Amino acid sequence: MRPKFKYYNQSQAFLLPPSLDEMIKETHPVRTINKIIDEIDISDIENNYIGGGATSYSPRMLLKILVYAYMNNVYSSRRIENLVQENIHYMWLSGMQKPDHNTINRFRSKRLASGLKEVFSKVVMLFHEAGILDIKDIYTDGTKIEANANKYSFVWGKNIRTRKEKILQQVNELWKYALQVSAEEMRDVRPQSYEEINPESITETIEEINKVLVKKKIDKNVRAKLTKVKKTWPEQLRKCQAYEKLMNGRNSCSKTDPDAVFIRMKEDRMQNGQLKAAYNWQISTNNQIVVNYSIHQTAGDTSTFVEHIESYKRQYREYPDSITADAGYGSHENYKYAEDNNIEAYIKYNYFHKEQQSKWQKDISKSDNLYYNEEQDCYYCPMGQAMENIGEKEKITLNGYKQIVSRYKAQNCVGCPLRAACHEGADNRTIEINKEAKRLREQAKSLLMSPEGLKKRKRRPIEPETVFGNIKHNKQFRRFLLRGKEKVEIEVGLLALAHNLSKFVA
Ligand code: SF4
Repeated sequence: MRPKFKYYNQSQAFLLPPSLDEMIKETHPVRTINKIIDEIDISDIENNYIGGGATSYSPRMLLKILVYAYMNNVYSSRRIENLVQENIHYMWLSGMQKPDHNTINRFRSKRLASGLKEVFSKVVMLFHEAGILDIKDIYTDGTKIEANANKYSFVWGKNIRTRKEKILQQVNELWKYALQVSAEEMRDVRPQSYEEINPESITETIEEINKVLVKKKIDKNVRAKLTKVKKTWPEQLRKCQAYEKLMNGRNSCSKTDPDAVFIRMKEDRMQNGQLKAAYNWQISTNNQIVVNYSIHQTAGDTSTFVEHIESYKRQYREYPDSITADAGYGSHENYKYAEDNNIEAYIKYNYFHKEQQSKWQKDISKSDNLYYNEEQDCYYCPMGQAMENIGEKEKITLNGYKQIVSRYKAQNCVGCPLRAACHEGADNRTIEINKEAKRLREQAKSLLMSPEGLKKRKRRPIEPETVFGNIKHNKQFRRFLLRGKEKVEIEVGLLALAHNLSKFVA
């Protein structure tokens, strides 16, 4: 029997023109995305457009195709441009309009600079009102994502300082030499030594030295050095000043993305421990939906906490009721900040688990295991000796946070049989207690050990960490495409928005 084929004719005429809308399934996720973004007020983005001139593509349409692309692991503006011309879902979202990659890129990096966070919050509020999540109870964590920067483009603050110090030392040596050789001619020349230098003063100084040494018989190496330094030092100092400005108090920066910092990454594919230019991305989640995000230029999570929660407050006009986070956030400053703002801090400190082990509890070298008499303000050492308060001192953390530390000292440790297990110092044992930090840690401990605390501790590893896992592994987002903190913040905003909508349509 002969095979039969279905009728095939590419020139088949339609009675009515086909509609894209009919070709998209009623239940397809693209319809949900379209509906949600249609319901959101995007005036914060629209306000970034200046009136007059030629017409612009609809920001709502561009936002829809960008978010849909991020949901489908497409981050390149050129690929989005192709999809808008070839893929029926993108064509439907764009209403058959065809913005090119420059338009898409300009919209992403400029128009979304202000307004994306507001749109993100409005979507979160929609979910909150629908009972999908509770924005008042958040779980916070951070991850590092590689910047779009060359890995050999680092500038270290320490190297800049050392270079400046060397130039300063050498200019003083040259000045001293000139003084020795031409003491008479230089009697009235000021200054005679330098404490600080800049490109202008170094040029003046070298010229001054050259002027007095020009007719002198001096070592030819000194003459050669003077010629060389006149050419190179002002330029080197100019570069140092420019890098210092870029670093703005940080310890490192990248020449290709000056806002990025060099950080040791967990994902070290080369296994060589090399530092990489990256950003620290912090998120807060509830029900695995991102409630807040922020970008930071520090390696540690501790110092990001206050800034991150303040950005939450700007978004939702109030502080969350409770925050759960790992020991990376358990600092005096963060506990105090949470207390001052009536936030329940289910935040561990770095020895929270260890102190529950009997080995730790029996360790007499730990000051937390010593008995404190509040009335007399003294500690009792394991031999029963009173350790009296010998004064207080102020400590300033790396973040500039002031702490008051009380010092207690034992009276006589000579010949004590417990000495080896008690302390290592040659003198009588001295302990330093930050009473305020201790009180706050105890407060955190009682929250963490409560039934509610146990529930939150169990839930924490499946909250923000799952979101990061999804974005890095399933969505294959491991490196930023854009450069600069502001643009990187847009990228994470789009990722967070796409992640939230994916969760909703899943
Ligand atoms: S070494 Fe000093 S502080 Fe420690 S138990 Fe002995 S007396 Fe007390």
